[in-house]
Parts: sequence; structure tokens; C-alpha cells
Amino acid sequence: VGPRDELGELALTFNKMLENLEEAYRLLEESLQTQKRFVADASHELRTPLTSIQGNVDFLLQLSHESPELQKEVLLDISAETKRLSRLVKDLLTLARADSGLSLNLQEMELKPVLEEVTRQARFLGKNHHFRIEMEEAGDVVLKADVDYFKQLLFIFLDNAFKYTQPGKNVTLIVKRQEDRVELLFADEGPGIPQEDLPHIFDRFYRAGKARSGGGTGLGLAIARWIAVEHGAEISVESTVGQGSIFRISFPIFRKSNTAVGRKV
Ligand code: ADP
Repeated sequence: VGPRDELGELALTFNKMLENLEEAYRLLEESLQTQKRFVADASHELRTPLTSIQGNVDFLLQLSHESPELQKEVLLDISAETKRLSRLVKDLLTLARADSGLSLNLQEMELKPVLEEVTRQARFLGKNHHFRIEMEEAGDVVLKADVDYFKQLLFIFLDNAFKYTQPGKNVTLIVKRQEDRVELLFADEGPGIPQEDLPHIFDRFYRAGKARSGGGTGLGLAIARWIAVEHGAEISVESTVGQGSIFRISFPIFRKSNTAVGRKV
């Protein structure tokens, strides 16, 4: 190998390095832009309820002699906006923790008892719906999970299913076993999600259709995606407008509980 070849190789390596550097710079720039947009969107979303609360309080102060019904109405508005604000702050805090690289506390977790607990609470949330759970296949499954965040993940999907589905209709949680994975399916008979919105619903602040004016924060599914990734889980969604949606999360099974040391099989 002559000095010319060596020089040529060095130039190639150098060029490759430059290319990588440019790519890294581009990615960094992109993530910086994403962060900037997030902060801008967040402050906009925070300002909206605050402005409304401020306006209503000013209105109330001028109202002293008016009918108590009107006062109550304004107070109810204030209360709803305050709740929305507090949900927003809680969700923003979760995402800020995610962005700062918080890792979850993953421990061995038996799936069935956790599902039973979540279902008990969900029955209350879904008291106006026909809520069913099929979890026979959860049997002896043990996952590596952070129990609190795992429950939060489940509640995000259940909450949405109840929120977007008319009272009296079906909401079903189905547990399905595969070889080395377990799937949780959240099926509802809600309005469904238009195909063109599907790729975006996991983005921060994205709200499809009528949900735009609703009381949600648009952050639930973004949080769900982060929690799922941290658990090595995959999320997918199928939806038909006018029929309903099925959100599917697939978790890797860590082990079967009856193979535990010292436990009866
Ligand atoms: P939001 O607080 O608006 O519910 P999410 O991040 O949880 O925010 O959901 C994002 C958007 O996805 C919602 O605004 C809604 O348009 C749509 N969506 C989520 N779940 C459902 C569902 N089960 N049925 C219909 N639309 C849904």
C-alpha cells in the first residue's frame, strides 16, 4: 500500500466522519426544534385555561347582585378549567421527566393481580358503559414492569375509550397470549379515528376531530407511547370511523409465574 493509497483512505474516512457529523448536527437541530415547539405549545395550552379562569373571575366580581344560578354556572366553568389546568400540569411534568431521561423502575410483576386491581377501578370510571374484561389468558404471566406507570398506561387507554364512547356502548379489555408476548387490546364502539389522523394521535398535543374542543390535554397517548417504549412494548391501533377503535399493546413476557423458584407448580 503506497502513501497515495493511505492518503486516499484517510480522505475517505475523513469524509465519512464529516458526513456523520453533519447528520448528528441535523438530528440535534431537529430535536432542538421539536423541544422549542413543545415549549411554545405547552405555554399556549397553559395560557388558554388561565385566561378563561381570569375572565370568569373578573365577571363574577362584577356579578354580586345577579342571580345565584348564573354565579353557579360561572363557578362551574372555573372549576372545570381549573381541573383541566391541573391535568395539563401533571401531564407536562410526566413528559418533562421523560425528556430528562428518567428511567422507570422495572421489576418482576405478575400481570393478573394488577389487571384485577385496574379493572376494579375502571368499573367505576366506566359505570355508564358496558365494560367487560377477558383476562383468562393473563394466567401466569410475569412482566418486567414499573407497576405505577404500567397502571397509568392502562388507564390512559381505558379513560380514552370511556371518554370517546357513548354511554351504554361496549368497551372491552382483552388479554391475548402469544408465544413470548402478551397483548392487551382496548376495544371501543366510539366514533373511530379518521385514517389521516392515525399517524399523529401519539404526537404531543395532537387532537383529532371533535376532541379538539374537548377537555383532554392531547398528551395522554404521547405519555402512553413513552411508557410503552420504556417497557419494551409495542403499540398499534386500528380504527374505523363510525364503528370504533382497537388499541393494542404487546408486552414481552419476562417469565411464567409457575416456573418461579420455591413455588408450587
Ligand atoms: P386527549 O386528551 O385529547 O384524549 P390523547 O393523547 O389521549 O389526548 O389522544 C389524542 C387524540 O386521539 C384524541 O384527541 C382523540 O382525537 C383521539 N383518540 C384517542 N383515543 C381515542 C378513542 N378511543 N376513540 C376515538 N378517538 C380517540
